[in-house]
Amino acid sequence: MNAPANIASAKTEAAAVLGRLGVDRALWTGGPRAVRSPVTGEIIADVHDTPLAAVAQTIETAHEAFRAWRNVPAPRRGELIRLFGEELRAAKADLAAVVTLEAGKITSEALGEVQEMIDICDFAVGLSRQLYGLTIATERPDHRMMETWHPLGVVGIISAFNFPVAVWCWNSALALVCGDPCVWKPSEKTPLTALATQAVFERALARFGDAPKGLSAVILGGREVGEALVDHPKVPLVSATGSTAMGRAVGPRLAQRFARALLELGGNNAAIIAPTADLDLALRGVAFAAMGTAGQRCTTLRRLFVHESIYDGFVGALKAAYASVPVGDPRQAGVLVGPLIDAASFDGMQKSLADARAAGGQVQGGERVEMGEEAFYVRPAIVEMPGQTDVVKRETFAPILYVMKYRDIEEAIALQNDVPQGLSSSIFTNDMREAELFISARGSDCGIANVNIGPSGAEIGGAFGGEKETGGGRESGSDAWKAYMRRATNTLNYGKTLPLAQGVSFEIKTAP
Ligand code: NAD
Repeated sequence: MNAPANIASAKTEAAAVLGRLGVDRALWTGGPRAVRSPVTGEIIADVHDTPLAAVAQTIETAHEAFRAWRNVPAPRRGELIRLFGEELRAAKADLAAVVTLEAGKITSEALGEVQEMIDICDFAVGLSRQLYGLTIATERPDHRMMETWHPLGVVGIISAFNFPVAVWCWNSALALVCGDPCVWKPSEKTPLTALATQAVFERALARFGDAPKGLSAVILGGREVGEALVDHPKVPLVSATGSTAMGRAVGPRLAQRFARALLELGGNNAAIIAPTADLDLALRGVAFAAMGTAGQRCTTLRRLFVHESIYDGFVGALKAAYASVPVGDPRQAGVLVGPLIDAASFDGMQKSLADARAAGGQVQGGERVEMGEEAFYVRPAIVEMPGQTDVVKRETFAPILYVMKYRDIEEAIALQNDVPQGLSSSIFTNDMREAELFISARGSDCGIANVNIGPSGAEIGGAFGGEKETGGGRESGSDAWKAYMRRATNTLNYGKTLPLAQGVSFEIKTAP
């Protein structure tokens, strides 16, 4: 199924849904920065960049909020997030509609993204009663040693277009229960989702009652606004999600002033299809991971290694799935692949396909699906490659799946690890030795290693992030909250002598 003829206006729909969500019209009209919906290619809003002086003022206000918020007991801070979760449940369909209009996600995935916000809010509420440290055995008599976790300060959040709301929420839900105000710079491609989320958050704030002013703020703009956040001395942590190029710029700037960086950057994720795999399950896993979100997830499956003994049958079935997948308006039921974000993304995809052909790749798909001059829909591409050439090793943020043959599992793991990125990976196998090897110390070198599940579509309960050029950050579940707090080690002496550690002697003369 391709390009339906009558496309409902994204502009009309955006105006209606932003109105329902209570976003002040002045915030998304009359500004110099046009917001284009990838769904129809229409300009749906004109937002205002935040002037740099206002960015600095916003951070100062957030810092003042920190001085008050850090004194609020953590379970009470959790109450704010509980209320926010309730507001998100009420606004779920509308917020998801803005995600679809602005990022182009099919409705089911947009609803899933808002559900992810709700899930992390639930997690953070429980966490607000579990911010505990260890008590540690001390070598000295009548002493106690322990660690305590304290709020850190203002957290800067820079987010990418492709998860326009969930990534902010992974960070902010934890940061706020940890005692940290947040200043959010969303992608310049998705400011409306940020304004809508802030409107929903403000409803939770109103119900909460006595939160300090400026606890959560949105600043809009491009790179310069991001840099102002990165460079501000009152922002001790910046969580930045986006391309590796962005991380390369942001990481050193933060290091320069000894601020913390939580980097969530590009991926180049792989799956191995072993001879014992349940091939039906593998086919469905690969199809969602590679074509879902039109290939625009950091965890999208981009490289597939198929054992030579099952290659022809499996790849044949996959090509048939690629040829029949419905591409079109993401608001329509039945459509599984929506648009690319913009023209630059389309050009990048075509360039990589040309490079793959030049390197001997056999391409199926990748052609444009006409849905209007400024809307960029493509058929997902599957490319059989003779080997892992340069184009395969770089992340192209579009639905291209490079397929290669392998002979033995050690070779497949080596190929899967032989890229600069280290986000997500998976193996489909029913051989427990292969499965265990894949997740062992000499297996996948990624932050995420799955068995019989594709590399995309993580739950919030685990820590999310990757190694190497993916940046090393971990956010969301597990103990990722520790990034948002400062740890103090406390040693208390309840005795009457002063023994020094390691038996050190330092006797001074005291007054007679
Ligand atoms: P991008 O790097 O173009 O932009 C991301 C954000 O960084 C935007 O808000 C942008 O304005 C800001 N930015 C860019 N340069 C900056 C600078 N020098 N200083 C401060 N801020 C700067 O990325 P994108 O196109 O929006 O998103 C796609 C990329 O994000 C892909 O590479 C994808 O893999 C990655 N991504 C990673 C994760 C993850 O968790 N690892 C999640 C989502 C997306």
